[in-house]
Amino acid sequence: MAPSKPRVRFAPSPTGYLHIGGARTALFNYLYARRYGGTFILRMEDTDQERSTPESVKAILDGLNWLGLDWDEGPGKEGACGPYFQTQRLDTYRAHADQLLSEGKAFRCYCTREELTARRELAAKEKRDYRYEGTCHDLKGPPAGKKQEDAVIRFRMPSGEGEVSFDDKVLGVITKKYSDLDDWVMVRADGIPLYNYGCVIDDHLMDITLVSRGQEHVNSTFPQLMLYKALGWTPPDFAHLPLILGPDREKLSKRKHPEADVMLHARTGILPEALLNFVIRLGWSHGDDEVMTREQMVEWFDFDGVGRTSGVWDPVKLKWFNQQWFKLLPPALVAERLIPFLEARGIQARGDARLEPLVVALRERTQTLDEMANTASIYFRTGVTLDEKAAAKHLSGDSLGLLRQAREKLEALPAWTVEPLDGVVKTVSEAASVGMGKVAQPLRVAITGNTTSPGIGETLLLVGREEALRRIDAALARGG
Ligand code: GLU
Repeated sequence: MAPSKPRVRFAPSPTGYLHIGGARTALFNYLYARRYGGTFILRMEDTDQERSTPESVKAILDGLNWLGLDWDEGPGKEGACGPYFQTQRLDTYRAHADQLLSEGKAFRCYCTREELTARRELAAKEKRDYRYEGTCHDLKGPPAGKKQEDAVIRFRMPSGEGEVSFDDKVLGVITKKYSDLDDWVMVRADGIPLYNYGCVIDDHLMDITLVSRGQEHVNSTFPQLMLYKALGWTPPDFAHLPLILGPDREKLSKRKHPEADVMLHARTGILPEALLNFVIRLGWSHGDDEVMTREQMVEWFDFDGVGRTSGVWDPVKLKWFNQQWFKLLPPALVAERLIPFLEARGIQARGDARLEPLVVALRERTQTLDEMANTASIYFRTGVTLDEKAAAKHLSGDSLGLLRQAREKLEALPAWTVEPLDGVVKTVSEAASVGMGKVAQPLRVAITGNTTSPGIGETLLLVGREEALRRIDAALARGG
């Protein structure tokens, strides 16, 4: 049954750039919201004051904007459930913590960080798992020498035999015994909530109906469910997404895998449409469909298509998707995206009529904007650097004579358009009783410096008459 107007969220911790895993979580939530006419919320979980930075907030917003994953409520889009930065919600967290304290569902713990570290180290030495031992569980007030304002607030796990369970939309039913959970810290002494606590308060107050996030959070779901229960709130549905592995089959991580950075791909010339298309296939499928438009993604996405097996990063596939998108998008749009890559090479191509035909010619033979700009730059520059091997092979002996004949005919052409340009190659080769390649290749090397390019007529057209003749002259002069 289609859910009525779901409210879903992406809740990144702004401690670095937008990670591919984060982008996938955002995408899946976004698509689900769009498919069912719901709301996509962006919440900044910025409570780690040492690691959260305004630069990271900006990096995440930039990443989402580049991918075109627009949120309905969140930073810059205030809605009824704001603010959307956790550090701006501390009063709310305090109020609920006070309520839980007064009901005995939470308690103040005075154990210092040093004491806890020592106990944890002892446990490690004795090779047992450390679990908070309930030191302050039944205290009525601060122990001697300690102050209430130094205490953290812990959740009071109910004692006894119970278990907590949920039916994950991807993983199915998962259960944990109460005895496997401890009295976890909800709020630090300075009033800053810890992840499990802030997350539940916000997901509830923001009316979230389904929480979809990475599988690394499955275990957090149990303490979170205990909190929903303690507060008498109905929990949302959950859908935990499979891991994403790097090309080396290790968990895709910022530390080890540069490709985990969404904006790295913007810089290397992957189109956002292609990256999204690649990312949606990391753990989700719709039959054998590969290339999908945004509209199709919205039409087809649901959590029942999410698999349990990890998605593996395939760089060849990413480039393949990019080339498919080169061909799907209007050339004018690809040209627009190409301009900054040309500018980075010192080429001002804005407004140049050759841009769109160049895109059409080069999308067949290049896979990233960076590669396209590299090849395209040959057409905008004055002069060309010849590849030594290509020149030695094609700009010597008889080839030079053929090139000279071609040049004469080219110069005499009344119109510099593809057909007559190709016609020159044909006429010269027929007259000399050689294959067309014998004429086209020397020309191609003279014009582009190398042996691969679009059709020769097209290449000559794109370089332009004056520059083409100049390059041929330079090649002839070089060849003697
Ligand atoms: N801030 C958490 C993270 O970035 C959010 C996890 C969640 O979605 O609940 O991993």
